[in-house]
Amino acid sequence: MPSSVLAAELGIELEGQFIKVGRLQETNIPGIFAAGDITGGQARQAIISAGDGTRAAIGAIDYLKQLGVSAAKLKKVQWGASRTSKAKKLKKILPEVNLKEAESMKNRLKDYVLADDGFKAGYERYQPNLEMINLVKEKLSTAHIITISAYWCPDCRRNVPKMAKILDELQEWSAEVHSRDDEGVSERFNVKKIPTFIILDKNGKELGRIIENPKYSSLEEDLLKIAENDY
Ligand SMILES: Cc1cc2nc3c(=O)[nH]c(=O)nc-3n(C[C@H](O)[C@H](O)[C@H](O)COP(=O)(O)OP(=O)(O)OC[C@H]3O[C@@H](n4cnc5c(N)ncnc54)[C@H](O)[C@@H]3O)c2cc1C
Repeated sequence: MPSSVLAAELGIELEGQFIKVGRLQETNIPGIFAAGDITGGQARQAIISAGDGTRAAIGAIDYLKQLGVSAAKLKKVQWGASRTSKAKKLKKILPEVNLKEAESMKNRLKDYVLADDGFKAGYERYQPNLEMINLVKEKLSTAHIITISAYWCPDCRRNVPKMAKILDELQEWSAEVHSRDDEGVSERFNVKKIPTFIILDKNGKELGRIIENPKYSSLEEDLLKIAENDY
């Protein structure tokens, strides 16, 4: 049973319940490709799906080349990326990136998270550990947290939405977020891996940083260890 509801919702043309594709697995919507069992075909086999995937990748590369976009340039269009005319030109193909809006939201972690559907879903799904957050509050009532993230980074997708949800409970804490793709960010914060969460006290002194994934059982527990000066 093809699970094509999502495609239908996006306005992708179906043939029966399967996604209709062309020679390079392109759908009716420019820039969206489909591969594998979901596209029907004579034989629904693993090797056919893999071949479809390769064709779709070739189709996607051709599509990007035709737009004059390289992978390196695409990386720059991440949220909060440089506001050069080049980035503005690229905005055309990534309509969800509203550069103007992104600029005004630059320092707001929650807005950053809600601006991406995947991050947003992670945020909505996450149930923070309130008990542990209360312990954090007791130890460290105010703090500032700097997040360095990128939408394309899997560990960011996993952890940044959770941190935003946790911060909803830490009302006295302030937050800012910076895109790893912004020029100078890595050097400025001395960041080599993302996400990096830098926790500062109210005087701006660094108390600790959580890098990539929590060292303990959860972000909450890592925050508690930092609050207890035991990280
Ligand atoms: C019992 C059985 C035996 C088989 N034996 C063989 C065999 O011996 N040799 C062979 O070559 N092939 C075999 N096949 C077929 C092979 O498994 C499929 O052709 C192949 O797995 C298709 O790969 P796919 O990536 O297109 O789809 P799938 O492997 O079905 O992957 C699709 C993925 O998308 C996920 N998904 C669906 N909807 C959503 C959504 N809305 N959001 C996020 N994720 C979603 C699904 O959970 C799934 O993980 C067999 C299939 C079955 C059922």
